[in-house]
Amino acid sequence: MEIKVLQLLPFNKPTVLGTEKKYIWDAIDSHQLCGGKEFGSRAEELLSQLTGCDNILITPSCTAALEMAAILIDIKQGDEVILPSYTFVSTANAFALRGAKIIFVDLEPDTMNLDVNLVEQAITEKTKAIVPVHYAGVACDMNALMAIAEAHNIFVIEDAAQAIDSYYGNEHLGTIGHFGTFSFHETKNITSGGEGGALLINDNTFYERAEIIREKGTDRSKFFRGAVDKYSWVDIGSSFLVSELQSAYLVAQLEGLNLIQEKRKLIWYTYFSQLKDLEAKGKIELPNIPAFASNNAHMFYIKCTSLEVRNNLIRVLKESQIQSVFHYVPLHSSTAGKKLGKFFGEDSYTTKESEKLLRLPLFYSMGEGDACRVCEAISNYFNEY
Ligand SMILES: *Cc1c(COP(=O)(O)O)cnc(C)c1O
Repeated sequence: MEIKVLQLLPFNKPTVLGTEKKYIWDAIDSHQLCGGKEFGSRAEELLSQLTGCDNILITPSCTAALEMAAILIDIKQGDEVILPSYTFVSTANAFALRGAKIIFVDLEPDTMNLDVNLVEQAITEKTKAIVPVHYAGVACDMNALMAIAEAHNIFVIEDAAQAIDSYYGNEHLGTIGHFGTFSFHETKNITSGGEGGALLINDNTFYERAEIIREKGTDRSKFFRGAVDKYSWVDIGSSFLVSELQSAYLVAQLEGLNLIQEKRKLIWYTYFSQLKDLEAKGKIELPNIPAFASNNAHMFYIKCTSLEVRNNLIRVLKESQIQSVFHYVPLHSSTAGKKLGKFFGEDSYTTKESEKLLRLPLFYSMGEGDACRVCEAISNYFNEY
């Protein structure tokens, strides 16, 4: 008798194309491993070609890029920064680190993105910045948000961590606010070998200072360009440079971006088409992509009807060797969030919607068959319970 052993389908596996290895060896052979060299420049050029933003600095993480943005706009004690409660800790941490009070706003259940109308109401004379998060790589309503920011003279920093190869109309996400930040963490569409990020500087006047902040507060970049004859300490800063080994990995992934995206979209639409029936029956909700937004297939999530159903489904999928995961615990309910921020108005959706959300496996090396297996397990669950 044949015994079929189900292989564990993990939630994520970091993307490996194969081309990374050669570039990493090239970097090693170049005997130049620190930041700001050949592969670092190539990665920044490729990102510029993709996004249309001329001033991009790669960073060790999206967290680091957010911290650089906070330094660049001179966040200080007493400033307020508005952002969604439903996000990763770094969105808030980068600004809290510099003394800002975090004002959390509620979300729109359709997209899990921040509610732009609430942003306008949350603005006070202390508001220094708004940090929209493009959840699942799906754009926030940037026209409306930029109009509000301009009217009140406030900075906008797009947390586009999940939004590589995603657009608002024709504009790449991260290029619309004063700053944008990408993540190349291994859970994102492309990675620079586990950790990585980028800062997009859409207001050119900040570029020179950004380079200085990345180089420990020195004008070392200018020195290498021959613009000054020695370099020295000129401003506050830190070490936000990326090693050539990581940059080499990133170059390979940027060159293979189309391949990666084709595969991710295939998986995404497999889920979407096979789960439509369950949505029609009112068992689950599927993601909604507004007309102004594109879909970069960063994430596939479903929403169950309650926390209880969601948690049961996680358990049942686990029994079928399928790893599915919930997402952010709203920041305003966390220990640090209570201390460093406050929720503006009513929590009508953030807690409720986050409790229903479940993310399904989606990564480059999985097959269409894997997605079918997940859909079948989900369908079985709802047919049996
Ligand atoms: C992944 C992520 C981050 C953090 O990115 P790192 O590169 O790990 O620092 C920040 N914000 C959001 C919305 C993310 O999804």
